[in-house]
Amino acid sequence: MPENTHERKAAPSVPGDGRKQASRAPNPLLEMMAASAGARDVDEFAEEFAGKKNKEHADAFARVAFNERILLLPQCMRSSAECKAVERAFSYECTGCGACDIPEIIAEARRLGYLGVHVLKGGRAVVRLIEELEAGAVAGVACSYEGLIGIMECERRGVPVQFVPLSRDGCADTEVDLDEIKSLLGRLLPEAS
Ligand code: SF4
Repeated sequence: MPENTHERKAAPSVPGDGRKQASRAPNPLLEMMAASAGARDVDEFAEEFAGKKNKEHADAFARVAFNERILLLPQCMRSSAECKAVERAFSYECTGCGACDIPEIIAEARRLGYLGVHVLKGGRAVVRLIEELEAGAVAGVACSYEGLIGIMECERRGVPVQFVPLSRDGCADTEVDLDEIKSLLGRLLPEAS
């Protein structure tokens, strides 16, 4: 896999703190949850609620062995200008062109022995992959909004989940803190090893 020496292209301008989503399909359940909680901003609600859920699931996730976990990455992390990934039914297969950070994250998950790593084409692929691969735990990268939806899907199936919010959000050329995701991937409580 080529060394990751890419230079970032400018991401679409996004107002706010950089973790807010520029646009996305509304999720009725999440919108309703935010409204019933009296939240004026659904993204802020999602960020706060997803953070709480992350804490709730942290120990259960860390008790699952690496080879029973899957890692799910959003397709928006790809380089919109240079990506050479191959399109599959529910995901993109990274060819390691080095134009984004995905290969570095994939390499770490593979080094640890993760069951699978997938660059998702859309949120519906989460359910499909969890069920197909019979994952024991899920690690994911997403905006808080999509991350919370993913967390709820995992919870419905009794699968511990952890996610790292994007450090630069938007529709394309997004980024995640590499130290944060690598730290999450390697989190393991002694009884799991
Ligand atoms: S996902 Fe893979 S193929 Fe696409 S831009 Fe990133 S490194 Fe290149």
